[in-house]
Amino acid sequence: MTPQSESQRVADKPLGLECRNCGCRHFYVVYTRPTERGITRVRACRHCGRRIVTRETILGDPQRGQYRS
Ligand SMILES: [Zn+2]
Repeated sequence: MTPQSESQRVADKPLGLECRNCGCRHFYVVYTRPTERGITRVRACRHCGRRIVTRETILGDPQRGQYRS
């Protein structure tokens, strides 16, 4: 119910990714490329080696007051 428990659940599976080939959720990063809109990563399944591309979007800068301390 609380936002904190939600974030803990998310931490359990950080990306919500699932290999379409074998269904496993373990990926390693093949390479990372910063782009204007965020960060693009190519990941590969640890089990079958299938590659997927993910994009991380930068939502804000925490040093500008979104977060304390
Ligand atoms: Zn796989």
